[in-house]
Amino acid sequence: MGSVYDERPWLKLYDGDLPAEIEPEHATMLDVLADTVRAHPDDVALTYFDGRLTFTELDDLSDGLACHLAERGVAQGDRVAVYLQNVPQFAIAVLAGWKAGAIVVPLNPMYRTHELTRILGDAGPTAVISSERGWHDVVSGVATALGIDIAVTTSELDLQTRDDQRLFARAERRPAAGCTDLLAAARAHAGQRPPAVSPSASDIALLVYTSGTSGVPKGATNTHGNVVFNAEGTALRLDEETPGGIFALAPLFHITGLVVQFAAALAAGRQLDLAYRFEPGVVLDALAEHGAAFMVGPSTAYMALMNHPEVSAEHFASLKMVHSGGAPLPSAVVEAFRKRFGLYIRNGYGLTETTATATSVPLGLEAPVDAASGTLAVGIPTYNAVLRVIDEDGSDLPAGDVGEIVIEGPMVVPAYWNKPEETAAGIRDGRLRTGDVGFMDEHGWFYVVDRKKDMINASGFKVWPREIEDVLYGHPAVREAAVVGVPDDYRGETVKAFISLAHGSTVTGEELVEHCKRQLAAYKYPRSVEIIDELPKTATGKILRRQLRDTTPAGE
Ligand code: AMP
Repeated sequence: MGSVYDERPWLKLYDGDLPAEIEPEHATMLDVLADTVRAHPDDVALTYFDGRLTFTELDDLSDGLACHLAERGVAQGDRVAVYLQNVPQFAIAVLAGWKAGAIVVPLNPMYRTHELTRILGDAGPTAVISSERGWHDVVSGVATALGIDIAVTTSELDLQTRDDQRLFARAERRPAAGCTDLLAAARAHAGQRPPAVSPSASDIALLVYTSGTSGVPKGATNTHGNVVFNAEGTALRLDEETPGGIFALAPLFHITGLVVQFAAALAAGRQLDLAYRFEPGVVLDALAEHGAAFMVGPSTAYMALMNHPEVSAEHFASLKMVHSGGAPLPSAVVEAFRKRFGLYIRNGYGLTETTATATSVPLGLEAPVDAASGTLAVGIPTYNAVLRVIDEDGSDLPAGDVGEIVIEGPMVVPAYWNKPEETAAGIRDGRLRTGDVGFMDEHGWFYVVDRKKDMINASGFKVWPREIEDVLYGHPAVREAAVVGVPDDYRGETVKAFISLAHGSTVTGEELVEHCKRQLAAYKYPRSVEIIDELPKTATGKILRRQLRDTTPAGE
């Protein structure tokens, strides 16, 4: 008879200290917040610029804003959209939305009219919370067109000081016409509690539109139960390994930023350090100043930090645990980071639909590299998650075989918002079809080979861009690499690489082709290499391969 290890071989890799399964301690993020405020009333919850807010202040400000939203008619199940950079008002707005019973819709502040119209049109929020600049530049037009009648704006500079007097005095400023000022609204209700709402674990906490690198954006309905589960899971790992704060390397509008940073900081009662947005120099200064112990972000953020001309090991001296997720992590980057800064980057894999985390590298272990392809493992399934690899017919594949990764567990969203067909195709019976192609090795480590749709078909040979990118990252002159399939009269599709160079390096395209030829089968090495200043990325750090592909005309 087969044992549980035959089905879930990774269970053997859990170390003695941490359980393979956990039970959430709270039903909703409001319960998490209430307990943390009780346990750590005067501890610092957020730092930003030279300012800080304690858990009590954060709780009080969000109570005030929630009262305002409730007074204006926001009710249980309504949507409240938040369009802000990594500023403390983001945290206040999210908590206020939840306290008013609403579903929070985080929006990428780089979105412009086209994206906002599509997403807000689908989500149908009753209220939108934005910066004054964002409101004037884009949101007001979209909000008017869509009939969103509750608008709260804030000057993102308002909370730049730790001086509470100034914090409240500044609230006298006039908000954008027709909008309420966020801090004024909070102050007007000082000392009041919003009317009680009672969400349950199965109620939606976040409606997060997935990155849109893959076509029409869909809203993932992350429930309170989903968010609490992954927030508490992260908090548990932090307790084991790292006393200290969390640095918000990922943007708060992305699921990683919201869950692995913000919700996890609330669950762990830890300080969260915010930098307005990702600027390598600002991030390095903030790390040196606030001394966070943990950070998480996409691999491209680590590459950018590593390539900053002034970076030194001292900037990272306080860090005890660093996680990468959301984009492929080349093993060459892990090794370079370790050599220069003495820090091991832990890979992790997940999607918006898995509320960020689905795999991680257990404490005390390092992710192996697949000998055949050079791909670094993304980890093993985190608490309670079950990953499988399936073939085209949906049957389970044995260890070593490449197929589509499917995920089940308490972090998987129940559905896409208002999209029954996509839900039926992608999330049947609690099993998420990820669209990622990968495999599991015999010990239970998982490897993501690529996105299903990024496969290059060169004369029938299947080429996965990741493998070639990993080889390119092994060249010291390469800062970033992206490989795409471009149309080719003879082979149907052929392999092309786009490269940006490391600070102060020079190399020719021919040299890079030779570098790949030495290490890869003849059908895989890039037939052309284009060196450009900067690879296009989404705001969450994913390289936009599709955009690069579209810049190359047929026959080139
Ligand atoms: P998002 O929903 O924006 O978080 O994007 C999820 C997608 O990012 C996944 O489907 C993967 O294609 C990719 N991804 C996330 N983490 C990793 C990782 N560690 N390695 C490779 N790809 C990743």
